[in-house]
Amino acid sequence: MPPFGIVVSESEKSNKRLINHETIHWEQWKREGTLPYALNYISEAIKNGYDKNKYEIEARYEESEYCKLNYTECVRSGKALTIYNPEFRN
Ligand SMILES: [Zn+2]
Repeated sequence: MPPFGIVVSESEKSNKRLINHETIHWEQWKREGTLPYALNYISEAIKNGYDKNKYEIEARYEESEYCKLNYTECVRSGKALTIYNPEFRN
């Protein structure tokens, strides 16, 4: 959450892969600047949704090629390396 920092729940604070994912978003924000990043992210989300959002795909660099593009299903089913959450985006 620029410009404040990275926010994860207490239970995930030792989840290195999740922190890495969020760090990529931090780098994206620094690369593009606050307003362009916010607008570009939102436009990606409108065009491509969440799973195919290029910023999210970039942040999923540790995931398998399948999970990079099908992240919601992977997080719900336990195939994602970053995090397991059966209620993800419900
Ligand atoms: Zn993300």
